[in-house]
Amino acid sequence: MVPKKRIDEILDTYDPDDITIATLCSHSSLQIFHGARKMGFKTLGLTIKHDTKYYDAFPLAKPDEIIKYKDFEDMEARVDELYEKNVIIIPHGSFVEYMGPKRFEDYEVPVYCNRSVLQWESNRDMERQWLTSAGINMPRIFTDAREITEPVMVKYHGAKGGMGYFIAKDYPDFKMSIDNSMPYSIQEYCLGTRYYLHFFYSPFKDDGYKLKRGGSLEMLSIDRRDESNIDEMYKLGSIEDAKRHGLYPSFVVTGNTPAVIRESLLPKAFAMAENAVERSYELFGGMWGPFCLETVVNDKLEFKVFEISTRIVAGTNPFISGSPYADLIYPGLSTGGRIAMEIRDSIKNGHLKDLMT
Ligand code: ATP
Repeated sequence: MVPKKRIDEILDTYDPDDITIATLCSHSSLQIFHGARKMGFKTLGLTIKHDTKYYDAFPLAKPDEIIKYKDFEDMEARVDELYEKNVIIIPHGSFVEYMGPKRFEDYEVPVYCNRSVLQWESNRDMERQWLTSAGINMPRIFTDAREITEPVMVKYHGAKGGMGYFIAKDYPDFKMSIDNSMPYSIQEYCLGTRYYLHFFYSPFKDDGYKLKRGGSLEMLSIDRRDESNIDEMYKLGSIEDAKRHGLYPSFVVTGNTPAVIRESLLPKAFAMAENAVERSYELFGGMWGPFCLETVVNDKLEFKVFEISTRIVAGTNPFISGSPYADLIYPGLSTGGRIAMEIRDSIKNGHLKDLMT
């Protein structure tokens, strides 16, 4: 991991009145650039092989400049160009996934997040330790496949976006679908409705929903992911029938739709997010900025959290011009805009270094 001291040295060379916000051209970059431009920042898109012509279609979200790299080695080697432009990186899910968490930890450019969170998030056991020790309910784990007596979700490690995941109802079902060449974990299949809760924690804001340790927690929006092909599988009858015809359910994310939860669930949602933040400071120095709790709510109105994403999620993209929740705090502001606002305020108040690793 890049030593914090090195990041602070780089920031010391920056002109605070001429900061550029940069991210990888993918995932939620339109929203990040749009938000940064709204707050008066210059913007820079970083690409490897991505097609960037689609930005021409969205002039209000097109970055001021784009740098095309040959590969991630090239991107790591050319950090001096970014220092000259006073660049701050906004990480998103695809940035960390494509670059790889280890590499991202070593990327010598100031990044808006605590990089120590990455190992807690990318290792499923550590993630579980963090969240359960914060009092958050998670799906039960099965260590022996022969003990499967109810529907379970089998997840291959590192298989992102639900790729290859499958549901099994008993041991024979599991045996039929498992690929033993990859490490996997088996967890209770949580039946209910999925909600992806988008929060933002500001360690410096001192009004709103305050935390014990200080700072303020905001809920900016909620989405539900569209997943192919599981969402439409019911049209073929039972999953068992479909499997007999060689059609297996998959959980590949293809898009997002806006959602709200019933108001009586809000206190529970805030309590979970609050506990996750408080515990993050005890375990690894904190999580700040945007994060998402990926949940299922059952018919007893209980939440189970099957994953946490510790940065902006693509599920915030439906809310570029605000959301039913953000509009009650900052009308018309997206998560991308909220990130830029936090950076702008921290520059003004002399806290920028505290938010960068
Ligand atoms: P990402 O990193 O993009 O969030 P991932 O590969 O880590 O994805 P998960 O988010 O854990 O995958 O799961 C993918 C999808 O599988 C979820 O969006 C949800 O629809 C379903 N899912 C995951 N875990 C469970 C569970 N325990 N019970 C029911 N459905 C689940």
